[in-house]
Amino acid sequence: MKFANQGPQQPQININQTSKLKCDCGYGLFEISFSIRKASALITGNGQDAIIPLQLFTCKKCGEVLKDTIPPELKHIEDL
Ligand SMILES: [Zn+2]
Repeated sequence: MKFANQGPQQPQININQTSKLKCDCGYGLFEISFSIRKASALITGNGQDAIIPLQLFTCKKCGEVLKDTIPPELKHIEDL
């Protein structure tokens, strides 16, 4: 039997072959948090400050940012 209208093909990943990310504290549930960066008018060049929200995952237990979910280009920022 074939199913039509399944939309674009998703890569088949068997969830049994994945590993669970855990916080350094050992906890394994996270919530979405936003770090908000501000770019001053000097940088934006249009006379107005800009607000740039960055989505991060933080541990629900200890509040630490899950480092594996930080985009590589942001990993150098220490006070993310
Ligand atoms: Zn934690």
